[in-house]
Amino acid sequence: MLDPECIFCKIGAGEIQADVVSSVEHAVAIRDLNPQAPTHVLVLPKDHIRALAELPNGGDRTVAELVDRAAEVAATEDLQDGWRLVANVGPAGGRTVDHLHLHLLGGRPMGVPAR
Ligand code: AMP
Ligand code: ZN
Repeated sequence: MLDPECIFCKIGAGEIQADVVSSVEHAVAIRDLNPQAPTHVLVLPKDHIRALAELPNGGDRTVAELVDRAAEVAATEDLQDGWRLVANVGPAGGRTVDHLHLHLLGGRPMGVPAR
């Protein structure tokens, strides 16, 4: 199901342009418009799932697919020294787009806590 108001649904459907890194049946990876690291890619399901905390039953498959896609992108981006996956949940978690996505960050040393 898509949400006609959702920018990431539109990107997943190819209705809005984005810098697409990979696209498979259920997921797409795009470069973040406001990158926080040399590699900053968002991996998102094409279906409108609002958040990690709102996955339907069987959502583990969705998460596994997104993590697989992120690992593939990390390999093609030469991030063999390491990388980070981030999911922001809720306003206090820093979420700004209400469509599930994982941030793949790499290409620079990552500090703790995540920024
Ligand atoms: P979050 O704050 O976790 O919800 O992450 C949303 C991310 O989406 C931010 O890092 C934005 O820079 C990024 N973003 C928003 N709109 C677009 C877009 N049209 N194309 C690529 N990245 C976007
Ligand atoms: Zn959406």
